[in-house]
Amino acid sequence: MTRMFNFSAGPAMLPTAVIQRAQQEMLDWNGSGMSVMEMSHRGKEYMSIAGKAEQDLRDVMAIPDNYKVLFLQGGASSQFAMIPLNLLGDKTSADYINTGMWSKKAIAEAKRYCDVNIAADTSDNGFTTVPTQAELKLNPDAAYVHYVANETIGGVEFDYIPDTGDVPLIADMSSTILSRPVDVSKFAMIYAGAQKNIGPAGLCIVIIRDDLLGKAADNTPTMFNYKVHADNDSMYNTPPTYSWYMAGLVFEWIKEQGGLEAMAKVNKRKAEKLYAVIDSREFYGSPVAKNGRSWMNVPFTLADADLDAAFLEGAAEQGLITLKGHRSVGGMRASIYNAMPEEGVDALVAYMQAFAKRQSS
Ligand SMILES: *Cc1c(COP(=O)(O)O)cnc(C)c1O
Repeated sequence: MTRMFNFSAGPAMLPTAVIQRAQQEMLDWNGSGMSVMEMSHRGKEYMSIAGKAEQDLRDVMAIPDNYKVLFLQGGASSQFAMIPLNLLGDKTSADYINTGMWSKKAIAEAKRYCDVNIAADTSDNGFTTVPTQAELKLNPDAAYVHYVANETIGGVEFDYIPDTGDVPLIADMSSTILSRPVDVSKFAMIYAGAQKNIGPAGLCIVIIRDDLLGKAADNTPTMFNYKVHADNDSMYNTPPTYSWYMAGLVFEWIKEQGGLEAMAKVNKRKAEKLYAVIDSREFYGSPVAKNGRSWMNVPFTLADADLDAAFLEGAAEQGLITLKGHRSVGGMRASIYNAMPEEGVDALVAYMQAFAKRQSS
């Protein structure tokens, strides 16, 4: 068996130990004689799997009791509509910070439901910076403030949590959740598609303060109503049972690794190693301002873009795959989520050094 070091932005690598565990349990989960995929979501076996996954996530993230954790379908993209539908209440406007492609998508969707105040916009510099707190033009009467904590495509990550006073703060954490500890109580809502740092695709996790539930617009589709899902423990309809189970195995794995403090330590080291090689040579460049550099998604360019194809080909030969940058940005992008072993980053760094040396000799 050969496992590649897969730098895909998502769906992305999962811990090998997690996939092996799923393999062991594939045909017969815990003596039940059933695969998890074959279980009724209302049966006692699956209820125990679902409940444990939620509790493990609560433990790992230290989620306060007054927050609901929802396991939904529809991806992070569905939240772009669900947020205004559920959280505008009697307000007519919401603040959005625009730091990249995912911010733009959230904004475009919100505009269908409310006035959008762009509190900050970094498009002028090609989405390569994070706006400072002082630069945020917040409307004190906004229903909420929405931002993308880590822009997966641009590789731009906030190095602080925006202070929005009494206005509820909502973060799209699809590509940064579980990468380090975060103070959940600073947020009204956190959401994340699973396929980056949680588990397989098909699942979206929403962590929402319970006082925000119950003011959805009248015409909100039932399946888009957070309260409906909260009141039914995410089992109003059939949830994505297998993805939920796999996410649970990942939460257990994070606990075994020492929790988010331990994750953060390794993630910081992995990112620093990669940025160090990018910065140490003229041959490579990073488009992102230093204080906005993502720990999870590291875009980088070759000084001579004509070498991109050779770089990717040589990398694949070393088992380093899916390094091509997003079509909108070009160059390379290495996504190094929790499941990317440090050896994978070490191998990439060694390859980058060797490739640059070969080209300049
Ligand atoms: C991937 C991603 C999304 C979209 O997720 P889906 O689950 O495909 O809808 C949204 N926001 C961010 C930051 C992402 O990385």
